[in-house]
Amino acid sequence: MSQLFVRTLRDDPNDAEVPSHRLLVRAGYIRRAAPGIYTWLPLGLRVYRNVERIVREEMDAMGAQELQFPALLPKEPYEATNRWEEYGDGIFRVKDRKGADYLLGPTHEEMFTLTVKDLYSSYKDLPVWLYQIQTKYRDEARPRAGLMRGREFVMKDSYSFDTTDAGLEASYQAHRAAYIKTFDRLGFDYVIVKATAGAMGGSKSEEFLAKLDVGEDTFVQCTNCDYAANVEAVTVPAPASQPYDDAPAAHAEETPNTPTIDSLVAHLNKAFPREDRAWTAGDTLKNVLVMLKHPDGTREPLAIGLPGDREVDQKRLEGQLEPIEVEPMNEAELKSFPDLVKGYIGPAVLGEQAATGIRFLVDPRVVEGTRWVTGANVDGQHVIDMVAGRDFTPDGTIEAAEVRDGDTCPQCQEGFVSAARGIEMGHIFQLGRKYAEALDLKVLDENGKLVTVTMGSYGIGVSRAVPVIAEGNHDELGLCWPREIAPADVHVVAAGKDAALFEAAEKLSADLAAAGVTVIYDDRAGKISPGVKFKDAELIGVPTIVTVGRGLADGVVEVKDRRTGERQDVAVADAAVRIAEIVRA
Ligand code: ATP
Ligand code: MG
Repeated sequence: MSQLFVRTLRDDPNDAEVPSHRLLVRAGYIRRAAPGIYTWLPLGLRVYRNVERIVREEMDAMGAQELQFPALLPKEPYEATNRWEEYGDGIFRVKDRKGADYLLGPTHEEMFTLTVKDLYSSYKDLPVWLYQIQTKYRDEARPRAGLMRGREFVMKDSYSFDTTDAGLEASYQAHRAAYIKTFDRLGFDYVIVKATAGAMGGSKSEEFLAKLDVGEDTFVQCTNCDYAANVEAVTVPAPASQPYDDAPAAHAEETPNTPTIDSLVAHLNKAFPREDRAWTAGDTLKNVLVMLKHPDGTREPLAIGLPGDREVDQKRLEGQLEPIEVEPMNEAELKSFPDLVKGYIGPAVLGEQAATGIRFLVDPRVVEGTRWVTGANVDGQHVIDMVAGRDFTPDGTIEAAEVRDGDTCPQCQEGFVSAARGIEMGHIFQLGRKYAEALDLKVLDENGKLVTVTMGSYGIGVSRAVPVIAEGNHDELGLCWPREIAPADVHVVAAGKDAALFEAAEKLSADLAAAGVTVIYDDRAGKISPGVKFKDAELIGVPTIVTVGRGLADGVVEVKDRRTGERQDVAVADAAVRIAEIVRA
């Protein structure tokens, strides 16, 4: 410790919003270099390398081969797949001295595809699984929580290449199994959920989410069946259409001062009470106007109709539309459509065929025959008994409404879903032939015919794993690393002043090192009190803390388990052997 390049901090850094970030900075693992960009200090680098080793071992064990692409990449392949543009503000673009365009790689589908195309030409060469562990760059809109969402981060990305759909499925399952082994070893709590493919295109896709309240993803699980999905991927089953022959004709009514759903429902119950039950927010159809921001910068209006008891979930909406971003419609844009009456917007003016020409998509629950109270497009008026399919026809449906605790399970339709937060640690997906088609990756099949290759793409957040593991392995005193991840096996503290005590601690450290146990030895002398040393040991979080102190007079040292706090005295004479056993247990 007297030599180690580390300074532990007593106070929390003021830019750290989550425990793992606070502790990694305080314990001297990382330092911020720029927003979303971090330096690994020696302790941090050891932990990071342990994570990397586990990931690499499991990738090698499944039979994938490691290679390494540059991070600085030419523009052309990304233009061929349209991602140069689709990434919008999300990537770092750079120019060389001649003015040629480059990018810092955010993910490498293009490069892998082109390299396989470069070297392979026959079905006999396939399947092949290739991976790299490499630094990626994304200009994230909101870097946060230290290494959890960085602008520079390390990803393990692998890619599978097959000639048949069955082959792709097998490659996908092999990765899935390797990910389960990897994440079990890394030691955090996770769940495998159904996911959307996002900007990658393709079809089948699952995410490995670490279950953490500080995560930015929300997932749901069914109380009754095995359904688990990122809310972005939840599809609400459309109810059967309803008969509406007996439905009264739609009628516009005066509903003054009812621009919100609550005020409208209160007014309905006062002025137009129902006989069967009270009006609720779910009887109203709310029409939300947003602007779609395309990657090329153009803006397009969209109207979303959904039951009034639900809000639009921005992440779910953007998940459907990626790479398009969604922004609220501003006042000026709203005013540019004179038919839109704020607070009273209704389907009559919405839709590609209607007065505004604004595309009108509705929640899947708005099926034919359902009856709604909705805006009449006149200030202070709503229409009652507006029947979907009779009085208005939307341009289609969209999954934009929030998913809530207690919603019916979309899979078994018997149980209910419960929602929790998580953060994405891994993502596996079947890309299919999208990239191979765009970059013309074909091989000859058994019959000498050219066939397009089908691909899978699989990522793990290697640097993100460090804060994620820290998040699940700490207490009020500091970090408590799982053994395979810890920066050392044992932290030896020389607690006292006697030269004999330092000698014994030093010998024990040397014996442990000789037995293959990695040691942090706190040899600091002088003004550093035992109390400060213990605090640092707890903060740094090595799993076994050995104190060479007062007990030495009786021939014992104290061995403490950082996680459980359990202490035992061990005879100095065989301390190295006993501690080595504990470490290997
Ligand atoms: P997220 O949903 O968290 O933004 P993503 O879907 O953009 O992630 P992928 O493109 O699937 O991420 O990347 C593969 C893996 O890389 C992710 O599962 C995640 O663990 C990690 N990762 C992605 N973005 C970041 C980031 N900004 N910082 C750290 N790790 C990241
Ligand atoms: Mg992902």
